[in-house]
Amino acid sequence: MSGNNTVNVAIRIRPLVKTETERGCKLAVERAADGSPQVIANRSETFKFNYVFDSSDTQQDIYEACVMPRLKQLLAGFNLTILAYGQTGSGKTYTMGTTFNGALDENTGVIPRAVHDIFEETASMSTDFDFTVKCSFVELYQEQFYDLLSSQGRKESTVDIREDKSGIYMPGLTEVVVNSGQEVTDQLMRGSSGRAVASTAMNEQSSRSHAIFTVSLVAVGKGEKKSVTTSKFTLVDLAGSERCEKTQAIGDRFKEGVNINKGLLALGNVINVLASNPNGYVSFRQSKLTRRLQESLGGNSITLMIACVSPADYNISETLSTLRYADRALCIKTKPIVNIDPHAAEINHLNDIIQKLRMQLL
Ligand code: ADP
Ligand code: MG
Repeated sequence: MSGNNTVNVAIRIRPLVKTETERGCKLAVERAADGSPQVIANRSETFKFNYVFDSSDTQQDIYEACVMPRLKQLLAGFNLTILAYGQTGSGKTYTMGTTFNGALDENTGVIPRAVHDIFEETASMSTDFDFTVKCSFVELYQEQFYDLLSSQGRKESTVDIREDKSGIYMPGLTEVVVNSGQEVTDQLMRGSSGRAVASTAMNEQSSRSHAIFTVSLVAVGKGEKKSVTTSKFTLVDLAGSERCEKTQAIGDRFKEGVNINKGLLALGNVINVLASNPNGYVSFRQSKLTRRLQESLGGNSITLMIACVSPADYNISETLSTLRYADRALCIKTKPIVNIDPHAAEINHLNDIIQKLRMQLL
């Protein structure tokens, strides 16, 4: 499979949380009664997506429906991106499993589940391929990337983002070689604890920062032809969308400067352009977030957005913003390809030529 693809979107409507029930909130957002992937907001507005999950769906249901099937493609050499979008408190971190407590149970989110399955899969493919798996973990806060796996403190661990012919990269970023799902989740825990310790106002900061966990895979074929494929699994727990939407609605430039999340604003702009005019010019350089996600949006990636929403009437305006945003993301086309190492491909090609020449000599 290669060529044109579109961004897939899953909506997750979480259950009412305690603060909402205490406030006397009513349910204002539901999945269609026939179980089709549609969201009905305020009993009047309907949105269609690829998947819709509600309070009856477990972490495992979501993982099995929309993440697990894509791991095969990742292991075949495609890049895979999962982006969690939504207002603060909507369930992004819970869904992604970005803060993992070490126990694999029914509350475990996407990242720990996926990395365990990736290693089961690489083990089952080990007669044909040698895999090297690495992970990295960055936080993007106020337009600055922090290397969460750096052995130095977070403050000393800022990293740049650059681009060369082969794409976007971050010079000096810590990439840890990992040999099991457990080793990956150990890194995930180490990184997210660094994130918490560094912050005086943890909630405030985590709702305003983006966390990007990346697992990169290199598969070297063991057959006569040493095929080499590389693929990248990018898991993004985005900053809370509320400030962006609210300040935009107010249109107050001063407030924008103070509060707005540049990355989310740029992401919104990029999604708007890509959705309305796929061949138009898109500037990914508007923010570090869009630079990092350039391939994931409109480039070489199979991409899933999980948009998280509260079901409460109290949050309906944020929820409608999220649903509209997610609805636009549905129109984005990407062009995923199997990432074959060009050097390895070239060597294989030359070997073929040598083989043919040898045959002529016989
Ligand atoms: P966000 O990362 O979007 O700010 P969180 O993932 O931290 O939101 O979720 C906010 C709260 O709601 C947390 O206490 C979380 O455990 C709870 N929560 C979120 N989604 C669900 C869900 N689907 N089922 C049960 N609890 C949830
Ligand atoms: Mg969160």
